Amino acid sequence: MAIERLVEPTSFSEDTEEAKLEVSLRPLSFSEYIGQEHLKKNLKLAIDAVKKRGEGSVLDHILLYGPPGLGKTTMAGVIAKELGAGFRVTSGPAIERAGDLASILTNLKDGDVLFIDEIHRLRRAVEEVLYSAMEDFKLDIVIGKGPAARSVRLDLPRFTVIGATTRTGSLAGPLRDRFGIIHRLEYYKEPEISEIIKRTAGILETEIKPEALGLLSSRARLTPRIANRIFKRVRDYADVNGDGIIDTRIAIDALKLMEIDELGLDPADRNMIRLMMENYGERPVGLSTIAALTGDEATTIEDYYEPYLLQLGLIARTPKGRVVTEKGRRHLQNTENNV
Ligand code: ADP
Repeated sequence: MAIERLVEPTSFSEDTEEAKLEVSLRPLSFSEYIGQEHLKKNLKLAIDAVKKRGEGSVLDHILLYGPPGLGKTTMAGVIAKELGAGFRVTSGPAIERAGDLASILTNLKDGDVLFIDEIHRLRRAVEEVLYSAMEDFKLDIVIGKGPAARSVRLDLPRFTVIGATTRTGSLAGPLRDRFGIIHRLEYYKEPEISEIIKRTAGILETEIKPEALGLLSSRARLTPRIANRIFKRVRDYADVNGDGIIDTRIAIDALKLMEIDELGLDPADRNMIRLMMENYGERPVGLSTIAALTGDEATTIEDYYEPYLLQLGLIARTPKGRVVTEKGRRHLQNTENNV
């Protein structure tokens, strides 16, 4: 049976209820954007400077990196809004050929923000066109084929690229160098996750009792997207099994149904740890072997499953692969019969 995961990505282009909900919950300004104070402070400063300089000045290109669901797309939208600029959204895998990028770039307006999600997945040929465009707002294109081919240089409007990636390591050096501001988004603190859930409850007009709020906040993997997803499921549960109010009883029962344990791990996380322990004990396991054991893509494990498990210290990275730590082993034993 495929396990539906709370950590699964949703794409902004998906027209699902889930994606629509996510868009409706997205903060639109710095004041609505909870947490990431250091990032906000730096960005506000950069934006104020651009505004002060006025006409013709454009914000440096920005690279945001960190695990999925921490608010990179949201932040890009906030930046565009605060700048009063147009906001265009695309993603690395969506830009297949250099020509696709050329058409996006030539359609930009002066000052626009171009958000490129999963920028590490851009193809090499596209990447090269992008970094020269980012450098001097010029587009070099080749017209024609064979001996008749000639290169033309087009002027582009001045724009800001905001790139998002789960890993900076996979970004080619020359592209990385084009970003004036590079910032890592951190996992949120639990009180910030509480604030986010409270805000979501307000928007969805659902009452949540303080203790239940604390409980959900502690199980959301310190990640806003997951906090909102858990909240939505618990809200459904409260509607069906109660009077719609989320109290401690409802929260406990719903979390139990979702099999989310007290660290926020779901069955797939525990399954991965268990398989590593059963097959390798305390020895390190390579990423591709873990992927073969769980039946997932190696990149899915790297981007979606393991960052939080590493953050909690349940698994560790060694030069020879991943190992389950003592803490991981204990957690699994304690949880096995308890969820
Ligand atoms: P990422 O691009 O890093 O994967 P998103 O920007 O898509 O993450 O955020 C996922 C969801 O989490 C958003 O729809 C938004 O509702 C919520 N969210 C993210 N960051 C915040 C925040 N700082 N404050 C409130 N809600 C947030």
